[in-house]
Amino acid sequence: MPKMLCTCGNVLNIQDIPCKVQYNFISDVDYDQYNGSIDSEQLYQDMRMFFKCDRCERLWVFWNGFDEEPYEYLRVPK
Ligand SMILES: [Zn+2]
Repeated sequence: MPKMLCTCGNVLNIQDIPCKVQYNFISDVDYDQYNGSIDSEQLYQDMRMFFKCDRCERLWVFWNGFDEEPYEYLRVPK
Protein backbone atom coordinates (compact mmCIF):
# COMPACT_ATOMS: atom_id res chain seq x y z
CA MET A 1 0.00 0.00 0.00
CA PRO A 2 2.54 2.63 -1.11
CA LYS A 3 -0.08 5.27 -1.92
CA MET A 4 -3.59 5.99 -0.74
CA LEU A 5 -6.28 8.05 -2.41
CA CYS A 6 -8.09 10.46 -0.09
CA THR A 7 -11.74 11.30 -0.63
CA CYS A 8 -10.66 14.86 -1.60
CA GLY A 9 -8.68 13.43 -4.53
CA ASN A 10 -5.27 13.93 -2.95
CA VAL A 11 -2.88 11.02 -3.23
CA LEU A 12 -1.17 10.31 0.08
CA ASN A 13 2.37 9.08 -0.29
CA ILE A 14 2.62 6.57 2.54
CA GLN A 15 5.76 4.71 1.52
CA ASP A 16 8.38 7.07 2.91
CA ILE A 17 10.21 6.13 6.12
CA PRO A 18 9.67 8.15 8.17
CA CYS A 19 6.31 8.97 6.64
CA LYS A 20 5.24 12.63 6.74
CA VAL A 21 1.51 11.88 6.83
CA GLN A 22 1.61 8.96 9.26
CA TYR A 23 0.94 9.37 12.98
CA ASN A 24 1.33 6.61 15.54
CA PHE A 25 -0.67 6.49 18.75
CA ILE A 26 -1.43 4.27 21.69
CA SER A 27 -4.28 4.28 24.18
CA ASP A 28 -3.58 5.38 27.72
CA VAL A 29 -4.61 1.95 28.99
CA ASP A 30 -2.20 0.17 26.65
CA TYR A 31 0.60 2.61 27.43
CA ASP A 32 0.05 2.01 31.15
CA GLN A 33 1.60 -1.46 30.70
CA TYR A 34 4.91 0.21 30.04
CA ASN A 35 7.27 1.36 32.73
CA GLY A 36 10.97 1.93 33.06
CA SER A 37 13.01 1.57 29.91
CA ILE A 38 10.85 1.10 26.87
CA ASP A 39 11.62 -1.15 23.93
CA SER A 40 10.87 1.17 21.04
CA GLU A 41 10.16 -1.74 18.69
CA GLN A 42 7.64 -3.23 21.13
CA LEU A 43 6.01 0.15 21.58
CA TYR A 44 5.80 0.58 17.82
CA GLN A 45 4.14 -2.85 17.52
CA ASP A 46 1.51 -1.85 20.09
CA MET A 47 0.71 1.48 18.46
CA ARG A 48 -2.06 2.08 16.03
CA MET A 49 -1.75 4.59 13.26
CA PHE A 50 -3.53 7.06 11.12
CA PHE A 51 -2.73 9.05 8.02
CA LYS A 52 -3.54 12.74 7.83
CA CYS A 53 -4.28 14.13 4.39
CA ASP A 54 -1.96 17.07 3.78
CA ARG A 55 -4.60 18.80 1.69
CA CYS A 56 -7.94 18.45 3.53
CA GLU A 57 -6.68 17.29 6.97
CA ARG A 58 -8.95 14.24 6.82
CA LEU A 59 -7.78 11.46 9.10
CA TRP A 60 -7.67 7.83 8.02
CA VAL A 61 -7.51 5.79 11.20
CA PHE A 62 -6.52 2.14 11.14
CA TRP A 63 -8.09 1.04 14.40
CA ASN A 64 -7.51 -2.64 13.65
CA GLY A 65 -4.38 -2.69 11.54
CA PHE A 66 -4.08 -2.65 7.78
CA ASP A 67 -6.18 -5.78 7.30
CA GLU A 68 -9.36 -3.75 7.81
CA GLU A 69 -10.57 -0.64 6.04
CA PRO A 70 -9.64 2.60 7.84
CA TYR A 71 -12.19 4.87 9.49
CA GLU A 72 -12.47 8.25 7.81
CA TYR A 73 -12.68 11.36 10.00
CA LEU A 74 -13.31 14.80 8.58
CA ARG A 75 -12.41 18.00 10.42
CA VAL A 76 -15.37 20.25 11.13
CA PRO A 77 -14.19 23.88 11.17
CA LYS A 78 -15.51 26.06 13.99
ZN1 LIG B 1 -7.81 14.77 1.59
